[in-house]
Amino acid sequence: MTTIAAVVLAAGGSTRFGRPKQLLDWNGVPLLAHVVDEALDAGLAPVVVVLGAHADAIRPALGTRPVQVLTNYRWAEGLSTSLHVGLSALPPEVAGAVFLQGDQPLVSAALLRSLVARFEESGAAIVHPAYEGRRGTPVLFARRLFPELAAVRGDEGGRGLIERHGSVAVPVDDPDILADVDTPEDYRRLRARAGSAPVDLSRIRHLIVDMDGVLWRGDAPLPGLREFFDTLRRRGLDFILATNNSSRLPEQYAAKLRRFGVEVPPSQVLTSSEATAAYLQTVAPHGTPVYAVGGEGLHRALERAGFVQSDTEARYVIVGWEMGLDWEQMVTASLLIHAGAEFIGTNPDPSYPTPRGPVPGNGARLALLEATTGVSPVVVGKPEPWMYREALRRMGASPERTAAIGDRLTTDIAGGRRLGTMTILVLSGATTPETLAASSIKPDWVFADIGEVAHALAEAG
Ligand SMILES: [Mg+2]
Repeated sequence: MTTIAAVVLAAGGSTRFGRPKQLLDWNGVPLLAHVVDEALDAGLAPVVVVLGAHADAIRPALGTRPVQVLTNYRWAEGLSTSLHVGLSALPPEVAGAVFLQGDQPLVSAALLRSLVARFEESGAAIVHPAYEGRRGTPVLFARRLFPELAAVRGDEGGRGLIERHGSVAVPVDDPDILADVDTPEDYRRLRARAGSAPVDLSRIRHLIVDMDGVLWRGDAPLPGLREFFDTLRRRGLDFILATNNSSRLPEQYAAKLRRFGVEVPPSQVLTSSEATAAYLQTVAPHGTPVYAVGGEGLHRALERAGFVQSDTEARYVIVGWEMGLDWEQMVTASLLIHAGAEFIGTNPDPSYPTPRGPVPGNGARLALLEATTGVSPVVVGKPEPWMYREALRRMGASPERTAAIGDRLTTDIAGGRRLGTMTILVLSGATTPETLAASSIKPDWVFADIGEVAHALAEAG
C-alpha cells in the first residue's frame, strides 16, 4: 500500500464571516475539523494542518484528532509559504501528498480515495479532480515533485508544475463538489446542498443495540426504554442486544430487562463471550481444548459451543473480564501462549466503569499477557468486526439495512462504521456533546436517548 499524506492549507484570514472561516459550523463540527475528518477517513497519513491567521483560536477546534498542526507565521505573503511549511513536515516514506484547502466542505473521503487510486494506477506525477474539463483542488503531487513545490513563490501554487509535468484528472459531475466557502452566500448554498444528503431512518430493518448507557445506567432504566421496544415491535424491526461485557449470561440480561417491564428472549442477547464462542466455532472443531480465563458468561458460552476446558492441552487461550485477577491463571495463560496456543480476547475495553470510577477492564488483562508473551490477541468485541458480524448472521441481516445504536464512539459507532452499518449515537451514556464535537468518529444520527430514537423510528415508518 502506498502511503499518501494530506496537507490541509488553512492559514487564510478571511474577515467576511465575523469569525475565522475555519470555525464555521458544518453539521455540528467546525468546518476545518470536517475537512480534516474526511482526510482521516480516506486513510491519508500523516494529516498535516497548516494554520496562519488566528492560529491560536482555531487550533482547539481540531480537538484530539491525530493530526500534526503547524503555524505559518508568513501566511500573509501568499499560499506558497503555507506549502513550504506543510512540505517540511512530511516524513520521507510518503509516496506523495494531497494538498487540500480547509474550506472545501464537499470534498469527501470518497473523492480523496479516488485521487489516490488514480495516482496508483496511472503512475502520473499529479492527479486532481475536474468538472467539465476544468481543473480543481485538492491536488495530489508525487514525492519527486516536492523539491519543485518547495521552490514555488507567491500565490502561484501548483499551476506551473502542472504545465511542466502534465496531470491526470478524476472527473466529478457537480461543480459544487469543488467549490470553496468564500462568501456567506457560498456557505448557505453549500450547507443546503450537504443537508439534503442524509439517509433516512425508514431504511432501517435491523438494529444492533448496545445496553449499558443506552437501555440503562447501573440499575436504573433510561428514559423511553419501554417505548423503544414497543416501537420496534410495532414496526416489525428485528434486533439483537449486544454488549462488550463478557462476564454475564444472556439470561441475566433478559432478567434485568424483565425487571424494567421488557420481555426479550436470551437468544436476542449477544455478549462478547457468546460472540467469541461463535467465532471460535468457525476456526476450531467441536471438542477442541481451550483455556478460558474470565467470568461465568465466558465459561458457559464456550461449554455450550462444545469446547473443553484444559490447562495443559489447550490450543486457544481465551481471556474475558471478571472482577479480580488470579496470578496462577495468568501464569498458565502465559505459558500456553508461549507454547503456541492462539490468544483470543473477548473485548478490548481498557477500563470498566464503577461507581468509584474506572477500574482495570479486559483490555488491561490482555495487555498484561501481551507484555509477557509478545503476542497480540485476536479481539472479538466492538469495535472489531466479529461481534457485529455474529449479530448480523443471527438476524440474517445485511449491513446496509442495519443500524448500530450505542453510547460510545470508539466501540459502538466505530464498529458500525467499520462494518458498513448505519450508526446512531445516544448521549445518555459515555459520550458528551463536547467529546462528539472533538472526535473524528461521526455517527449518522445523534439522539439524546433511546426515547428520542423511538420517536424518530415511529415517524420514519
Ligand atoms: Mg455502552
